[in-house]
Amino acid sequence: MTEADETNSKESMESIHVICPTCKGKKDLKIPTKIINQAKQLTTVSIPSGAVCEHGFQAFVDKNFAVRGYQKVDFEFYKMEFYEGGLDSAETEADGTTSSLSSQPFFQEIIKLLRSYVDDKEILGSGMFTVNGNVLYSSLPSNTLFSIIKEFEVRSEKKLSSLKKMYLELENNQKICSNYIEIKEMRFALVLFFSKFVKLGMGNLYLNDLVKKIKKLEG
Ligand SMILES: [Zn+2]
Repeated sequence: MTEADETNSKESMESIHVICPTCKGKKDLKIPTKIINQAKQLTTVSIPSGAVCEHGFQAFVDKNFAVRGYQKVDFEFYKMEFYEGGLDSAETEADGTTSSLSSQPFFQEIIKLLRSYVDDKEILGSGMFTVNGNVLYSSLPSNTLFSIIKEFEVRSEKKLSSLKKMYLELENNQKICSNYIEIKEMRFALVLFFSKFVKLGMGNLYLNDLVKKIKKLEG
């Protein structure tokens, strides 16, 4: 696949066939190909209620876009979410680093925190990335996800590693704010995606608050 193909978001999506573990409702869902390709092993896809049936649940998707297992959940997602890892990742853990990070309870706490920021009015999605654009967690809509991965890749190529923050404003006045953060001696980028109703200054406050809370978790 060439670079040009990748920019076409239609070709960057792949269908997965999911079956609700509660009512057996079925549907094909489109998910970003890149997320599955980046993952070392399984990717956890969280499916909000209303996407397939009335239930919210999680599917564990392998490198061939096949679902390897499901999990019922007792909390509500607002958006479709992705993160690396899933099931009992004890069987994998080939080379450590990010994949072992996402299976740590500490990382699960960060995901809970990132999830808690998202609503339907002001904060439309959140995410955590490696500095070169690998997705550790995302509840961002796919178009936003594609643009942000691209931004991180470009910045990483240009070695703009001394950056602390990044702000992007889209044509429809939605905003993407990101903050680099050091956790357990690794560098990550946190991302919040704001609706047009949120001013940049307010977005920045949300982001600072998020960083503070994560630092506290690490404590
Ligand atoms: Zn169901």
